[in-house]
Amino acid sequence: MKNKGTIREQFFARLGQTSPSPLGIEIQKAEGVFLHSPSGKRYIDLISGVSVSNVGHARPEVIQAIEEQARNHLHLMVYGEVIQSPQVHLAGLLTDNLPATLNSVYFVNSGSEANEAALKLAKRITGRGKIACFRNAYHGSTHGALSVMGNETFRRSFRPLLPDITALRFNCLQDLELIDRHTACVIVEPVQAEAGVRLPAEGFLQSLLDRCNDTGTLLIFDEIQTGFGRTGSLFAMQKYGVVPHMVTFAKALGGGMPLGALVCGRELMDAWKTDPVLGHITTFGGHPVCCAAGFAALQVLLHEGWTGQVAEKTAFLEKALADHPKVIETRSAGLLSAVELGSSGKVQDMIRLLLEEGAMADWFLYCDTAFRISPPLCITQEELEFTVRVVRAALDRL
Ligand code: PLP
Repeated sequence: MKNKGTIREQFFARLGQTSPSPLGIEIQKAEGVFLHSPSGKRYIDLISGVSVSNVGHARPEVIQAIEEQARNHLHLMVYGEVIQSPQVHLAGLLTDNLPATLNSVYFVNSGSEANEAALKLAKRITGRGKIACFRNAYHGSTHGALSVMGNETFRRSFRPLLPDITALRFNCLQDLELIDRHTACVIVEPVQAEAGVRLPAEGFLQSLLDRCNDTGTLLIFDEIQTGFGRTGSLFAMQKYGVVPHMVTFAKALGGGMPLGALVCGRELMDAWKTDPVLGHITTFGGHPVCCAAGFAALQVLLHEGWTGQVAEKTAFLEKALADHPKVIETRSAGLLSAVELGSSGKVQDMIRLLLEEGAMADWFLYCDTAFRISPPLCITQEELEFTVRVVRAALDRL
């Protein structure tokens, strides 16, 4: 057989890359909070696949659910036509753990798709065309999601995008007046993750909801990163005490498998059925294996009590890093932390040093002066102490 080069050479030759310098390390196995390379090097996972692996890697219940469902059946039919018990079970468990008004689930494959569905449904229900979003928001890379991305650098080359988008300043009460009776919806991350972990000011999300209610505008929370325990509540909406009209999930929803969802009230969801019929169609959305994995992961999360430990674990990490002279500040929404170093050069070096020391971390899309610490929520005290040793060792060498 023709020599095709090492796996690394093939990775660069045969796969599309989206950055000139991907991490480019090979991972062969992942278990708990650790990632293992073929050469036996071990990395503690400080990314969780960007807030995906909340229950840790290779959790036996999740693997078992995947195996069992794969034996029962894989894909059967486009979404919504045939009764598939994994979808029904996950939708039931999810809505049981959400405020009562969020009682109907539409499954898709990803976060971007969940947001596409939410924007479309809001336009269909309100009959309005204007959409509001926030500066420095990230909602995905498809055309609709990109249109509500609050960063021109990433949008510029892909115009024309959706028309009539208004980008508001996060935490700016004055900008809420730009939401009016022509606005179909406002989409917001309750905590702006890719902006480098920007928390909502006290009362801001409530004021946003009030303004939406006053103008007949639908409020969409994008809980794709903040969901499933990450911020210390099962969902950030519970932490901040504000219930939106719609919420989108993905990432940790599938327990490591690709899955997204739009959740809203039944009376809103029913709009997909008419004008036109089949208002939103997906072939693979709510894939039974992904739903089975998501159901098992959510059961584990609810059973293990890690969500309740998030605040304590975050406080430990913050305190243990605070006195290091290289750390300017740490911003955290639970186990979603941005450690501010002040320059992108330092962050690049830090990521490389962390890999050498045995940890995988990354930066933020719109904040290249801070690196991310968002480990699986199952991280133990011993593993947290190990994290601190590794991060401090890398900081010392910076
Ligand atoms: N919304 C938020 C807040 C995200 O962080 C992401 C992904 O990073 C998305 C949406 C898009 O999700 P996906 O990559 O699954 O399309």
